Amino acid sequence: MSFKLTILGCSSATPTLYRHSSAQILNVNERLFLIDCGEGAQTQMRKFKIKFQRIDNIFISHLHGDHYLGLMGLLFTFHLLGRTKEIHIYSDPGLKKIIDMQIEISKANLLYPLIFHSIDSAKSKVIYNDDIITVRTIHMDHRIPTVGFLFTEKPKERKIRKEVIEKMQIPVKEYEKIKKGSDFTDARGKLYKNDELTISGPKPVSYACCSDTGYTESYIPLIKGADMLYHEATFMQDKLKNAREKFHCTSIDAATIALKAGVKQLMIGHYSARYNDLNPLLEEAKTVFENTILADEGVVYNI
Ligand SMILES: [Zn+2]
Ligand SMILES: [Zn+2]
Repeated sequence: MSFKLTILGCSSATPTLYRHSSAQILNVNERLFLIDCGEGAQTQMRKFKIKFQRIDNIFISHLHGDHYLGLMGLLFTFHLLGRTKEIHIYSDPGLKKIIDMQIEISKANLLYPLIFHSIDSAKSKVIYNDDIITVRTIHMDHRIPTVGFLFTEKPKERKIRKEVIEKMQIPVKEYEKIKKGSDFTDARGKLYKNDELTISGPKPVSYACCSDTGYTESYIPLIKGADMLYHEATFMQDKLKNAREKFHCTSIDAATIALKAGVKQLMIGHYSARYNDLNPLLEEAKTVFENTILADEGVVYNI
């Protein structure tokens, strides 16, 4: 299974000359999921040669402008390019009002069905499910209702213990059922439990995206052991007071969450426009969690 993440924007609040507002593309086996859609997201996708007509599902964390102001432009572009395939949007219900109003005033008659899924940010819930992944919301502690998203690969098939199965002369046609977890009963009626016949498959890949939020440990159990955690680190630790007042995190906060959740890798982003050089944020985070990287627009990260 391939999990590839492209950061389209990692600036907080306002875009800068060098950084765009929040938006990311997660490519899971060539299915494209758009996470947030800040200003400039569609031009970033063109620049990075992302085939954005292949996006079917858009997840919006919250309704601060830096996370959704690029969405209307993208929705109209889909229409102008003649898209007829449906688009699903997962967001706080307020977004539907905003979209409906813009469509109504511009008298647009979108060529494609727009299907809206309301998110209740108060509880963590599975909001998307297909044959290869699930997406769960993560409650964030921000000034308005906000969620993070946890993308998890569906559990992989169990692996057959060849030496055991061959010795017992289990017919090959039974292998598929056994890999899916079935027990096996032989001709004499003897039952073999699945865990005698198989070992567990590789751990499913998971990606957690947590932005925007103040410091809270409430979601650590949900993101435990994630392969990659994108976490906002709007400020450095010397601006802790600003971070607390604005319900944002520092690089130390993000690294502390990564450490406590035992994730494999931390990517920090959602940088305040005050930072031109991001290396001090990285160095600060690394004092707590060594395997930290900076979100960098246009780079494709294999999770
Ligand atoms: Zn933001
Ligand atoms: Zn925000």
